[in-house]
Amino acid sequence: MTRTWNFYAGPATLPPPALERARVEIPNWENTGMSVMETSHRSPEYDAVHEGAISLMTELLGLDDDHQVLFLQGGASMQFAMLPMNFIPDGGSADFVNTGTWSQKAIKEANIIASCRVAGSSEEGGFTRIPKQAELDLDPSASYVHITSNNTIKGTQYHEFPDTAGVPLVADMSSDILWRPIDANRFNLIYAGAQKNIGPSGVTIAIIKKSWLEKANENLPSMLAYATYSAKNSLYNTPPTFAIYMVRNVLEWLKEQGGLAAVEKTNRAKGDLLYGVIADNPDFYTCPVAEDSRSYMNVVFRLPSEDLEAKFVAEGKAAGMVGLKGHRSVGGCRASIYNAMPLEGVQVLAGFMEEFAKNNG
Ligand SMILES: *Cc1c(COP(=O)(O)O)cnc(C)c1O
Repeated sequence: MTRTWNFYAGPATLPPPALERARVEIPNWENTGMSVMETSHRSPEYDAVHEGAISLMTELLGLDDDHQVLFLQGGASMQFAMLPMNFIPDGGSADFVNTGTWSQKAIKEANIIASCRVAGSSEEGGFTRIPKQAELDLDPSASYVHITSNNTIKGTQYHEFPDTAGVPLVADMSSDILWRPIDANRFNLIYAGAQKNIGPSGVTIAIIKKSWLEKANENLPSMLAYATYSAKNSLYNTPPTFAIYMVRNVLEWLKEQGGLAAVEKTNRAKGDLLYGVIADNPDFYTCPVAEDSRSYMNVVFRLPSEDLEAKFVAEGKAAGMVGLKGHRSVGGCRASIYNAMPLEGVQVLAGFMEEFAKNNG
């Protein structure tokens, strides 16, 4: 396969073995003479894929018996609404830590449905850091505390999760789920659109603490109630079967890499390499993010001028690297280096950055 070094923030690069397996299996999958896309979601062949994806996710994250993997649709954006619908009771309120665009969208949706508080924020200073524990003003009676574990646009990431003193902790992990081992059982809900770190768009992964469902609001439309997905093992209606098949392929690849501890090592090497190039060329590259809050998934940086940024993106593309432009809301440059981006791709980018600084500095 001829591959482009793909630094897009999402949908993002996928592991070649996961794609290759799909290529081989599309015309004739498991000797069915069909592809997985054409097969009933109630067939035994599909069931093996569905269960395989769930058990790989359970194993990789070390989930206990009270945590269940669900497949939903509507993206992480749908979770912004579904979560308060399900878990803020009449007269209740949830706490949010505001760390940028995605947190703000989650807050906006929660405010439509119920009431919520901002218990911490890094808005002052332009979301360039993660608020510290001591800065949080948590409501002990909140229904839950919501954080965004990795801020895809601003390039910040939690390196230690907050202590919520027993209040259920919920995280949007769309852009860093599975990047390293974590204590996933600490969370009452983790959700992630698949298209950054685990697969194609079209499926949203949720990991829910089953015993929390006892507190969920009733009288919700079936498709908007976590309880429906839990009770029916995400097969109440037709799930996005092909997307789940790809997630299974990606998780299998991840396991073959040695699981989360191994992938963390590579991810840290990749991030350290890029932040190192930025630090070594301080007159040319700057990273606006506080050192203790820097993301190992989305490395954001600025060049001396917007013209040079545009030139950097264009020359990068000509050299086989796409997606280096920062999010349209913030400008600058961004390299998204999720699990499936190999160290080699980041080495190519680091070499290009050194060269570009030398030629244009
Ligand atoms: C991309 C992203 C989203 C939006 O995901 P959709 O699946 O497009 O709704 C939400 N939160 C974070 C942290 C993201 O990176």
